[in-house]
Amino acid sequence: MRGSLLILAAQLVLGFFILCISKELVLPYYLLAPLMLLPSFYFYRDSARKSLLVSLFVAVLFNLRFVFVDPHPRFFSFLLLQALFFIVLCLYSRELRETIRQADEKKNEVRKNLDNLQAKFQTRLTSLKHLELQVSSLMNLFEIARDFSECMDFATLTEFLLKKLRDELSFERMRIFLFPAPTDPVEPGTVKVYDMVANGVTETERVLSDQEKTDFGRMRAEKNMVKNDSSWHFPIFEAAELGAVFSIEGVKDEDLARVEVLSAYLVLLIKKIKLYETVRKLAIVDELTQVFVRHHFSERLEEEVERSVRFRLPLAVLMLDIDHFKRYNDDFGHLVGDATLKEVADLLKKSLRRVDLVGRYGGEEFLVAMPETKLENAVEVAERIRSSIARHDFQVYNDKTRVTVSQGLVVFDAAKLANPERADFSKIAAELVHQADEAMYQAKDEGRNRVCIYKESKKTL
Ligand code: GH3
Ligand code: MG
Ligand code: MG
Repeated sequence: MRGSLLILAAQLVLGFFILCISKELVLPYYLLAPLMLLPSFYFYRDSARKSLLVSLFVAVLFNLRFVFVDPHPRFFSFLLLQALFFIVLCLYSRELRETIRQADEKKNEVRKNLDNLQAKFQTRLTSLKHLELQVSSLMNLFEIARDFSECMDFATLTEFLLKKLRDELSFERMRIFLFPAPTDPVEPGTVKVYDMVANGVTETERVLSDQEKTDFGRMRAEKNMVKNDSSWHFPIFEAAELGAVFSIEGVKDEDLARVEVLSAYLVLLIKKIKLYETVRKLAIVDELTQVFVRHHFSERLEEEVERSVRFRLPLAVLMLDIDHFKRYNDDFGHLVGDATLKEVADLLKKSLRRVDLVGRYGGEEFLVAMPETKLENAVEVAERIRSSIARHDFQVYNDKTRVTVSQGLVVFDAAKLANPERADFSKIAAELVHQADEAMYQAKDEGRNRVCIYKESKKTL
């Protein structure tokens, strides 16, 4: 507004100046008249309508002043020329203004597009960074998972899991539940649980809590993972039976995707370790009696002989054979025979310590190794075994029956070895088994249901 007034004032001043300095009038008029149009053009360009009218009015008045003074046709033609000049200028300016407006519009559009692109780029960049983080964290998980595959037993796996995942994932505790196979010697209704918390791993055999029973029941029914308020449970099925469960508790939401990736891998690994343990057990444990197979017993016996030689400790070896078992089978059938064999093995284990070794030597023959056991004690144990079996009622369909065992005992006295440093442990072990076997045949010869001690004199109890 102030600018317009100033321009109008300048126009008036210019008009008066022209009028004042021109006595002759014509020459200054021709020179300066076009200048009087400049403010009008300026106001037209700015669409300032009121100022345009005022300035046009001033310009017209100025021109009329000369019309009265000099009403010559050349003056009228000059006036017409001025009007034409003004119109052309206005038209050109209008076009120019339109071009500028379009250019501005284009510029704005380009700027908007640029802003959009910039925003998109920023979003992409952020998600790329996020993705990069996720990839690196997944790579870490895969690295860890690759190392897992070297774990061949649950004790190593759980220690490893706890150590490696502590820095990778947010969790409060992890657990592996192992459901027992029908032949496993565990309390009915119990499961083996590896519990991994911040301060270490514990291994227990326990009954499931009510919450766990509910969750695992759902898992069996849905054949899928189950999630409650605090825990995620991942099932491991073995031939449609729930064989194991991997559980993780207190995971933060941002880690859930990674837990799913990890658990998919762990589920396979747990399955593999379970299978591996079963195979390993089958290779060393007799399926029917759940005592060591002969080959494994022999290996363990050699180790005991070595320990016995090194520390000058006595080692007792006992061979045990069921009396008249062929007849027993003939009378009651093989199935009853099998059940009896299993019961004899159970009675045998009950009479022994945890450190003692029991093996199935042949069909109905068992071997026992009792480390650090002197002859008197070994005889006591053998007698206890004999009487516990002889007094036991074995189930035969609706009836009960009894069996007896004959035993041969030998005690290895490492102190009597002439050259302990040159001892051949494997040979000594084989010799001990042979001697116990001989003593057992002595017991058979002497009437069965007894213990014979291997000695040069082959003394009978
Ligand atoms: P002895 O008192 O002299 O030992 O007489 P025995 O009949 O027991 O004779 P021996 O030890 O030679 O016979 C072994 C019998 O044990 C033969 C077989 O019928 C039976 N037997 C071996 N292994 C098994 C098994 O796994 N299950 C069953 N049910 N019987 C077996
Ligand atoms: Mg036999
Ligand atoms: Mg026999």
